[in-house]
Amino acid sequence: MFSHNKRLQYTVRVAEPNPALASLLLEQFGGPDGELAAAMRYFTQGLAEEDPGRKDLLLDIATEELSHLEVIGSIVAMLNKGAKGDLAEAALEEAELYKSLTAGGNSHTQSILYGGGPALTNSSGVPWTAAYIDSRGDPTCDLRSNIAAESRAKIIYERLIAITDDPGIKDALGFLMTREIAHQKSFEKALYSIADNFPPGRLAGVAPYDSLYVNASTGPGDTQGPWNSGPEWETTDESDMTRSADGGEGTAEVKLPADQMKTVEAMMLRTASDPNSDPLTGADLGAGAVIDD
Ligand code: MN
Ligand code: MN
Repeated sequence: MFSHNKRLQYTVRVAEPNPALASLLLEQFGGPDGELAAAMRYFTQGLAEEDPGRKDLLLDIATEELSHLEVIGSIVAMLNKGAKGDLAEAALEEAELYKSLTAGGNSHTQSILYGGGPALTNSSGVPWTAAYIDSRGDPTCDLRSNIAAESRAKIIYERLIAITDDPGIKDALGFLMTREIAHQKSFEKALYSIADNFPPGRLAGVAPYDSLYVNASTGPGDTQGPWNSGPEWETTDESDMTRSADGGEGTAEVKLPADQMKTVEAMMLRTASDPNSDPLTGADLGAGAVIDD
């Protein structure tokens, strides 16, 4: 069960209203790398998790992400507080109000449609969607996804910190950013606490394809690194690119039942092209005379 502690996880001190900044901060409220997405990602993973350690970790972090959602949403609400009142009471001259709400981002949408409250959208006003959650129900897949999600959240906070000089907001965003670093560390430790974590799942890869680097490009610029060369790697050469990897025909086949075979043949006959034809087309008719100069 959940219970609500009225204190925020981190104190929010906003120096002055700024609807345009509020709309940019929505990226971490209702955006793909934002706090609601993080909370829902770990909450749903945690409910299905059988390992007691991972279940505890996922539900702890999911709950903390909701606390982050509360912090970032409160910053947005403080930044919009003035605009909310101005709009509700039509306090300014129309032109002044228009100017204050259209200063940048989607702050006008936030004010007109959502009344100045934190909306579950990204910074461009795109509504939050469960499609942001990419869990697959396998711990080594999902932990890797979580590590990537935390690193994305960290970078978005870093960018938001770079666009505000409000010390209170910088401070709170710095806390939220730092917590994502801690989460990334926890998820990495949890991943490597699974003895056999690579490749994901139960099946091993098929040799030699699991250590084959396909050098799929020609021309200058081929570069060697630990990602494609060394004792772990075989590399294809140019002639390999003209053959199938399995040494087979490289064709695609299927055995069809006789009645389906008939319909496919009928279709092929009906739509066959005649390589000896030279048809007159609309393009030919409309081309006009060739101008020679
Ligand atoms: Mn967070
Ligand atoms: Mn996090």
